[in-house]
Amino acid sequence: MSRVYNFCAGPAALPEAVLKQAQSELLDWHGKGLSVMEMSHRGDEFTSIAATAEQDLRDLLGVPDNYKVLFMQGGASQQFAQIPLNFLAEGATADYIDTGIWSRKSIEEASRFGNINVAASAKEYDYFAIPGQNEWQLSKDAAYVHYASNETIGGLQFDWTPQTGDTPLVVDMSSDILSKPLQVCRYGMIYAGAQKNIGPSGLVVAIVREDLLGRARASCPTMLNYKVAADNGSMYNTPPTFSWYLSGLVFKWLKEQGGLEAMAKINHAKQALLYQTIDASDFYSNPVASNARSWMNVPFRLADAKLDKAFLAGADERGLLNLKGHRSVGGMRASIYNAVSLEAVEALVAYMQEFEKERA
Ligand SMILES: *Cc1c(COP(=O)(O)O)cnc(C)c1O
Repeated sequence: MSRVYNFCAGPAALPEAVLKQAQSELLDWHGKGLSVMEMSHRGDEFTSIAATAEQDLRDLLGVPDNYKVLFMQGGASQQFAQIPLNFLAEGATADYIDTGIWSRKSIEEASRFGNINVAASAKEYDYFAIPGQNEWQLSKDAAYVHYASNETIGGLQFDWTPQTGDTPLVVDMSSDILSKPLQVCRYGMIYAGAQKNIGPSGLVVAIVREDLLGRARASCPTMLNYKVAADNGSMYNTPPTFSWYLSGLVFKWLKEQGGLEAMAKINHAKQALLYQTIDASDFYSNPVASNARSWMNVPFRLADAKLDKAFLAGADERGLLNLKGHRSVGGMRASIYNAVSLEAVEALVAYMQEFEKERA
């Protein structure tokens, strides 16, 4: 068996140690004679798996006691509707920041439920820079302010946290949660689809401040109501048990790596190496402003797009997979989430330099 270096944007690479542990426990979890997939979600075994995963996530992020951690389905995209259904009363206004494709999708969906004020847009910078907060036009009485901390496709990431005073700040952290330490108390709600930096797809994790629960519209479907999820320990119905379990293994792995401080160090080294390589050459380029460059998703272009195919083919041969950029952007993109090692980035950089030498 040989494992490739996987730069997929999502579903993304998982730590090999986690996959091996899941493999060793697959048929017989902890001597119980059955797989996690075959357990009742209400039994003692899965209840302990679920509680341990939640506690480990709380430990990693330092989640304060007045926040609920919810494990739900429907991915981050379902949150785009769930957030207004829970927090935006009929006729009320919410502020959204547009920094790319994912925030635009959240705006489009929320607009179905109420007044959405796009308080700032990176459009004026061709989506290569993030407007500073002094440029934002926030509403006086917004129900909340929503933004995406990392735009997975454009490779644009906030390196600062917006200040919204008493207005709850809601953030889509699908592609950068757990990549570095975080001050949860600055947010009303944090959410992330699992398949980038948490675990397998089929799960979305939300961290919601308790005072925001119970504001859902009467028309909000039961399954989409955060209070129902919170009151039922995320088990109003059958949760995605295997994804929850595997995410728990990832949380344990992150703790073993030294937690988020340690991950931030490694992630810093990974992105620095890759951007330095790109910047040092005229053959590769990345257009994003230096203070808005993503640590997790690094899009780059070859000077001559006619070489894209050969670049990707050569990468595949070396076991460097899924480097093709998003179809809406073209070029290349290396997603370098927590489970992608510094060694993987070093292998990518070595290949990039070799390819440049041959083709430039
Ligand atoms: C991937 C992604 C989404 C969509 O996630 P799904 O779980 O597929 O719905 C939303 N926002 C961001 C920032 C993402 O990276």
